[in-house]
Amino acid sequence: MIKNKLFYILCFLLIVLLIYSFSHIYDFRDYYIMAGTKYESPIYYIDNGRKIKVMIISGIHGNEIGGIKAAARIIEVKPDWANFIIIPRSNTEAVRNEERNPYYMSDLNRAFPGKPNGTDTEVMAYEIFKLVEKESPDIVMDLHEWERNYDEDSSFLANGLILDLMDSKFMEITEKVYDDYIIDNDSTKIMLDTSSLNGSFNKEVSDRLGIPVLTIESNMNDKLENRISFHLYVIERIINYFR
Ligand SMILES: [Zn+2]
Repeated sequence: MIKNKLFYILCFLLIVLLIYSFSHIYDFRDYYIMAGTKYESPIYYIDNGRKIKVMIISGIHGNEIGGIKAAARIIEVKPDWANFIIIPRSNTEAVRNEERNPYYMSDLNRAFPGKPNGTDTEVMAYEIFKLVEKESPDIVMDLHEWERNYDEDSSFLANGLILDLMDSKFMEITEKVYDDYIIDNDSTKIMLDTSSLNGSFNKEVSDRLGIPVLTIESNMNDKLENRISFHLYVIERIINYFR
């Protein structure tokens, strides 16, 4: 009888121990932003055994498909350029509806660094910002799309590279990629911009955390495959020069 009791007590303790360790190993906040809400969105970790840690954020604007598909391609192919942390569909609701942001939210890319107890948009910005702070990647790439034409000749479409932090090494690397692109491409042009807006992911992460951020803008009026290729081209080259 006493032996039986002891057996049950041991089983009970074992179950408690298992639940305890599982909940610690698998913290949902490490795998999702906005966990447990309708905005829940997965975070992907790709460990290629590399020294460089690159974070990729797309879907801050849900209608900018080129960047979202490029991030999905990296998750699928897992290129060994770096270790990656990727949030492909940052604003899941916007991505699901293929719109910049849902009508009941404000522009996520003006809400950074966000607020822990603010509107849905502010909380989302806060969770993304905190993840960047926690992970402290070497570089961050923020994938977007626009519809701009080339400043010097409007008959050409233009892609864009935007960086805020005047980190001379990162600026130099970005200029190299810009120069490479000009040599490799003549159909869609490229423009380099060094101003980002207050509240944007780029400005707030680079200013507040001192982590270099490159915003990559493919052109929505280009063919989808070209847009995806542009993001992948820039990401691979930036990493190559950074290493
Ligand atoms: Zn955008």
